[in-house]
Amino acid sequence: MSNSSSNGGEVAGVRGDRQLLNSLSFSRRSFLTKTSCFGAFYSLAKLIPLPALAAELAIDSRVSPTPIVDKGFASVRKIGNGLYATISDPSKGTTTICNGGFLAGREGALLIEGFISPAGASFQMDALRMVSQVPVKGALDTHYHYDHSMGNSFYGANGVPLWAHATAAQRMVDNYVPLQGADKQAALGPFEKRVKDAKSDAQRQHAQSDLNAVTGLFQVANTSVVSLPNHPIDPAKLPMSIDLGGLTGVMESYPGHSGTDILVRVPDQNVVYTGDLLFSGWYPVCFDEKATVSGWRDTLKKFAGFDKDTLFVPGHGQICGQEGIASIREVFDDIAGQAEKMYQAGVPAEEAQHRYVVPEKFKNFPVFAWGFTIGPAIAKLYAEWQGK
Ligand SMILES: [Zn+2]
Repeated sequence: MSNSSSNGGEVAGVRGDRQLLNSLSFSRRSFLTKTSCFGAFYSLAKLIPLPALAAELAIDSRVSPTPIVDKGFASVRKIGNGLYATISDPSKGTTTICNGGFLAGREGALLIEGFISPAGASFQMDALRMVSQVPVKGALDTHYHYDHSMGNSFYGANGVPLWAHATAAQRMVDNYVPLQGADKQAALGPFEKRVKDAKSDAQRQHAQSDLNAVTGLFQVANTSVVSLPNHPIDPAKLPMSIDLGGLTGVMESYPGHSGTDILVRVPDQNVVYTGDLLFSGWYPVCFDEKATVSGWRDTLKKFAGFDKDTLFVPGHGQICGQEGIASIREVFDDIAGQAEKMYQAGVPAEEAQHRYVVPEKFKNFPVFAWGFTIGPAIAKLYAEWQGK
């Protein structure tokens, strides 16, 4: 990663602080400002294999050493009593992309995530049926993002109630419906132009990563049926317990990644399905207009206060323990630390977004696309500081 400086200008199409708060770090002229991180996963998918289960988790008695099913693109593994984790490896296929899992009690089951395709949701349902025949109470989208919800139509077609944060359905309508039927060249043109107009190697690389991301997004957006959650969960009513018969999950809502994030905790067994509030061994995706860096860091601080033996099923990356929380907190500290130095030195936000240098320590952490991760994290931090 070069630290060559850019010289301002229309970096990432950003033209004002207000926009930094309200959109991605690229042009608001395009409806693509409102799209999800999905495309980024898609383009990244070819590059980054999933790390193996950490040695300490391989000997954790809750975690089965062998998955009940492994299709390459994802595997499903027992991680507790009636608890299963679906872990995706996008380098081997794009059927699921995000992680998920399910809870299976004596009387009912709860599925987690709609994934990026109906085939992904179907894969998880099949895995559930390998271990349990109890009725499915619901399938929860941990948040509205595309890679967690575009497979919802599978659940809809199978009569499974679709649960999500009360605002998730509207955000899917606002963000994904306009993509369908949009003109490809009109959509991607501004991103191609940014690559051509880049004023430094760093800017060019960042612009190219964003172009790859939105290209992937566009391809899939136009081949998916948007299927909306029909069981809205009012965050004011959380935490909420779900009794599955000898197994209780608790839904809780936290700020950070998307403004619609709901996690599932199983307090009795110290297991948490975090959705994208945790990226395990990845740079966090911060572009969402409702993402908040300070809010997210506070949320992660709370996770760090959970029991020391907590097992986390992240939205992306490998299952982890508290070391995974420590690690993403360090990533945020590093971004904030570098950004603050630039802020103090008077480097404009637009330029600072491109000057961040990935430290040696995190060089194997996937960066989906610069304009979905580091760029907007720095823009949002600047906006917070300027707002003080
Ligand atoms: Zn997400």
